[in-house]
Amino acid sequence: MILFPDAIHQIISTASPVPEEQVAYERSLGRVLSSKILSPEALPPFTNSAMDGFAVSSRHIASQSGPFRMRVNGIIAAGDAVREHCETGPNECWEIMTGAVVPPDCDAVIKVEETTREGDTIQFSRLVRAGENIRKAGEDFQMGKEVSDGGTRVYPEHLMSFAALGINSVSVYRKPTVAVVSTGAELTSDAGPGTGKIRNSTAPYLLSELNALGVDARFLGVIADDPKAFLSLMETELGRNVDVILSTGAVSMGRYDFVAPALRDLGAEILFHKVAIRPGKPLLFAKLGKTAFFGVPGNPVSTAVGLRFFVEPYLRSLQGLSPERPYRAVLENDTKKPLGLRCFFKAEVSHTQTLRTVKILRGQESFRVAPCLASNCWAVLPEDGDSVVNGSEIDIYPLHSWSSKEGIL
Ligand code: AMP
Ligand code: MG
Repeated sequence: MILFPDAIHQIISTASPVPEEQVAYERSLGRVLSSKILSPEALPPFTNSAMDGFAVSSRHIASQSGPFRMRVNGIIAAGDAVREHCETGPNECWEIMTGAVVPPDCDAVIKVEETTREGDTIQFSRLVRAGENIRKAGEDFQMGKEVSDGGTRVYPEHLMSFAALGINSVSVYRKPTVAVVSTGAELTSDAGPGTGKIRNSTAPYLLSELNALGVDARFLGVIADDPKAFLSLMETELGRNVDVILSTGAVSMGRYDFVAPALRDLGAEILFHKVAIRPGKPLLFAKLGKTAFFGVPGNPVSTAVGLRFFVEPYLRSLQGLSPERPYRAVLENDTKKPLGLRCFFKAEVSHTQTLRTVKILRGQESFRVAPCLASNCWAVLPEDGDSVVNGSEIDIYPLHSWSSKEGIL
């Protein structure tokens, strides 16, 4: 049995990044940038007004005493082209709209609310600072400024910057491909009392999580604990050069737990089988050439832990993402745990004004799906000791790593 940190080390050290590809920026949501992006232009592209009002030269106003009267030379609307010959005399101004180009010899905008208008003139009564209500060209992005580093997942706010800066295509890692297979003669859609059968609850879970993670996930179907069928399915998948095969069930000690022997028959390199964790201890990790194989136990919570804490780190490495870092929270309830095992428990995090606290939920058995609904994070308890006491600081992880940018739980 291997310890969790050693297992992760093995997983990450066997992952080499998938190739890069260029995609239209609109299609980059959820993908991981493979190289740094620098701004190709300045933003704002021209100096413009932050308010609806009147563009003036503050120098002219500073040389007079108020109240000031100014003649309105004309109107400049948002979208009007830059006027090359646009002179502003000492008692002149331009009516200007938010976002419109500020004439080159003006350096401030007086808000419309601060003026009174009579025909072609406006009146107002205070000095104006240079730069007031002006958005300078390049104030947001200078040309060449870093927009995003490589190894960053793209969120909608990235699309906002790409669109603003005319970044039409970006270089991202190819989507890793993941094939999911469920094992178990008991899995059927006709489950019910008296049938001995249950429904497959984890395939939809895995596929939806994987798709949300931005990978290309496919379901291969259910193998009814038949090693031959499993072997032929594996051979087909390996022929497709899939990046990851993820199987559920049949990795424990039962008579029908055929995954490890079948992998040996295929010539797989089994890097570990059994990890000092709960739930999910029988987890298996193997390499079949470049394809990584994760065999996670079939109980739903073991499967979820396998995906979140083993498969995900591998998928991150394939896409050049750095390892996820935990958040810290203060444990609210004394919790018993098995000595020597790292525990991944369903938990509920709360925030007070000054503290992040976490409660481990009841019902941690790996077959229970109901407590998953009540949880909003994973609590991770260390291997040492057989309990963790109330008031201890522990690591927690968001339930879904894609749901928010890292750094915000
Ligand atoms: P196994 O890992 O194959 O020994 O299965 C462990 C437990 O998980 C058994 O009670 C299985 O019936 C159950 N199980 C296996 N696969 C699934 C699945 N896809 N959905 C729900 N339960 C499952
Ligand atoms: Mg089974």
